Amino acid sequence: MKKTAHIISHSHWDREWYLPFEKHRYYFIKLMNNLIDEFEQEGNQFQSFHLDGQTVLLEDYFAVHPENREKVKQLIEEKKLTIGPWYVLQDAFLTSSEANVRNLLIGMNDAKAYGHVSKIGYFPDTFGIYGQAPQLLKQAGIETAAFGRGVKPTGFNNTVSDTPNFESPFSEMIWKSPDGSSVLGILFANWYSNGNEIPVDEEEARVFWNHKLQDAEKYASTNQLLFMNGCDHQPLQKTIPEAIETASALYSDYTFKHSSFDEYTDALKKVLPEKLQVIEGELRNQRTDGWSTLVNTASARIYLKQWNNRCQTLLEKIAEPLAAFGYLANGTYPREYIRFMWKSLLKNHPHDSICGCSVDEVHREMVTRFERVSQMGEVFVQEQAAELALTVDTSKTPDGGIPFVVMNTTGWNKNEVVTKLVDLEKVYFSQMHFEEIPAYLRDKEMPAYKLVDDQGQTVEFQLVSPTVEFGYDLPDDKFRQPFFAKRATLSFYAEEIPSFGYKTYYLVPEGHSLVQQQIKAPVNDLEMENEFVHLLFHEDGTYDVTDKKTGKAFHRLGIYEDTGDVGNEYMFKEAKGYSAITTKGIPAEFTLVERSALRTVLEFKHTLSIPVSADEQLDVERHKLIWHKEREAGRANEMTAISLRTVVTLEKGMKGPAFKLFINNQATDHRLRVLFPTGLQTETHQADSIFEIVTRPNTPEKEWENSSFCHHQQRFVSLSDDKMGVTVATDGLHEYEILQKDGTIAVTVLRSVAELGDWGYFPTPEAQCLGLQTAEWQVLLHQKDVLASKAYVDAYQYKVPLLAIQTSIHEGKLPGTHQFVNWETNGLVWSSMRVAEEQDDVIVRWFNPAGQKEMLKAAIHDDARSYKSSILEEKTTDSKNLYEVEGHEIITLGFHHKR
Ligand SMILES: [Zn+2]
Repeated sequence: MKKTAHIISHSHWDREWYLPFEKHRYYFIKLMNNLIDEFEQEGNQFQSFHLDGQTVLLEDYFAVHPENREKVKQLIEEKKLTIGPWYVLQDAFLTSSEANVRNLLIGMNDAKAYGHVSKIGYFPDTFGIYGQAPQLLKQAGIETAAFGRGVKPTGFNNTVSDTPNFESPFSEMIWKSPDGSSVLGILFANWYSNGNEIPVDEEEARVFWNHKLQDAEKYASTNQLLFMNGCDHQPLQKTIPEAIETASALYSDYTFKHSSFDEYTDALKKVLPEKLQVIEGELRNQRTDGWSTLVNTASARIYLKQWNNRCQTLLEKIAEPLAAFGYLANGTYPREYIRFMWKSLLKNHPHDSICGCSVDEVHREMVTRFERVSQMGEVFVQEQAAELALTVDTSKTPDGGIPFVVMNTTGWNKNEVVTKLVDLEKVYFSQMHFEEIPAYLRDKEMPAYKLVDDQGQTVEFQLVSPTVEFGYDLPDDKFRQPFFAKRATLSFYAEEIPSFGYKTYYLVPEGHSLVQQQIKAPVNDLEMENEFVHLLFHEDGTYDVTDKKTGKAFHRLGIYEDTGDVGNEYMFKEAKGYSAITTKGIPAEFTLVERSALRTVLEFKHTLSIPVSADEQLDVERHKLIWHKEREAGRANEMTAISLRTVVTLEKGMKGPAFKLFINNQATDHRLRVLFPTGLQTETHQADSIFEIVTRPNTPEKEWENSSFCHHQQRFVSLSDDKMGVTVATDGLHEYEILQKDGTIAVTVLRSVAELGDWGYFPTPEAQCLGLQTAEWQVLLHQKDVLASKAYVDAYQYKVPLLAIQTSIHEGKLPGTHQFVNWETNGLVWSSMRVAEEQDDVIVRWFNPAGQKEMLKAAIHDDARSYKSSILEEKTTDSKNLYEVEGHEIITLGFHHKR
């Protein structure tokens, strides 16, 4: 049977990588201009070009050539230029579940507006892919995914595979999500450059094709062969029509076709064998020697991951739900501004960007992008919250009282200590000469207060250190209004703040003391305790933590471990010689910072002596481009001291202590981790991933040679036996390893390297992360595992705070306590709440972390109708009140809000 060689012209365009963005863009403009010229030439046989699956490239181009917008649109409509479905080619594991959805939603909407969307789930270079990707693609109407990594192709000789995990005899396979959704998976078994630079010259072409045809046929399950005519930042090969002519003359058994993914997959699907290997779940290169997984990009430049986690949380867990509340209250939704914030953040999500595996200029620019997103998010939240608070009726505030509204933008009820700056009294410059205000406010005696909620219940609180500070209002209809305020820090325990809702509190003058409430004196300064846990610290900063309900304890958690690293931004390679240096047995210096009814804060400091850098061998190896696996470099003999300051906080209501580590990093070429030796002996553990709490083995497959076996996590990692468990929730710490010895969870808090890695020598001194670095996590104890105990609720809420807004006394249509969306279910994970991208329905998303069915009931008010929607916010079922959610299903509901 005649075979078809599909040649797809493309260029894999990392927006920024070994060059900063603007330098790569210079070459991209050239590529686009060449493409347009090529397509415009009369009689030209150049058929089509695949624009790397990401629509952001067009924005990059139009910023320089806005005059070519219509021309490009026409090329897309004519399917000569193929774009989408993504906005950027993101890293799959280092961006949140919602960021992965938004990337698809925004990319598909953009591509649609340009004229045509490529319906291929394109992951050419992605450093591993999450297991729920087939479900996401399926919900978006995409039936095929193409990827370059994750699965090992074994070739024809192994057509009957007895190892179903992550091994396929063919480059075509079925890829299945845990919920059972599946797509056709196409592996670039010979990489996405297997048809790059095809010769026109007959002799050269013969050599090229003899080799390339054989390579493709080794893995192809059909007579439809795929050749990717391009590579990273590949310029246009204009001579493809001539090269095809040469090839056609040489090989009469083959049809050579300048093709597209649409044409290739159509032809492929007609001839696919009945039975293809089924690959289930995550694609993480687990059936390899472990030296090229790129997993340690999870710990390269951790500061970027922390920035990202903060920005994602700000947009998806605070700003969007808050704006949706505003929509339900006032009928307006700043959709365009929200999309702009998302696009700005997504520009930091390409694999070479968020992975921290580019040159220093790239990551410096990323920090300013994160700063901009955070500025936008902050002003947005401040203004939206203030507007919403104006619709809440505070007219019944007791005399002289200060009302404020505590908002819960998450999908779970919250009990949490709220800390808020309150302006006890404000004097505007229009009321008094500004030079006189500070003294007036300082000398003015303030009344004592009590704190009550809108049900009249008295609430315990602390009000400390009033100071006089400058501030200003920016009214909608007037010039700026400067003032001085007498400002104090108010802390109180906010209880039962409804999910997707708020509760109003009043600070009311009363004959009550302003002094902090005292509790019983500390028994011992090295202990801390609340209603859930008790902690006892040892001299070296390790601690025993006891679950007060069950009496079960874990001992000596929290050891710091330092190891030499002679690898690069992609991969960790332990330096030879030295064994790990730890804080075990090294006395720490303790300080009690605060002990009140609401919180205990303890601080301890270590000075750890470690080698100042790698030894001289490393520099030689870097310059000779010695691959990380082969490196022999060790650590230097010269030592330096790094200081580690740990602040532990345990507040009322917290299920476990929260830690913030301040590292003054003065050493290079090393890795610092925090170790939790749980003593639990298990085969597997669980980790938070994209719309999934995934179970992974503690030990690698037999092919694995790398002595390090690290993994990705989104927000937490968990180890448990059938009785008890420990979950470590983190803020942008995405790398962990499970060490079988002592059942230890090791979380990377800092990795210092000095080169990019990959195809040349690119020094990246800033990847050493010198100076002050921080890391934050929370330790949660539970019975059974993280799922059965629902400890994930606390883990997902870590670092998603309540929002407290001081407001004026006014009438309003909303009551003092309110919930915008009521929902009932036993075990779903809330993910998002917003108003749809292209219509006015409120969209709320959850996923089922368990394998069994769950029921979900949800309503925005008594008569609100809801429907099931795809992740693209398209209605898929009729209105219902009760939904059956399949195991591992991602469920999105739309609420049609009648106003
Ligand atoms: Zn790439």
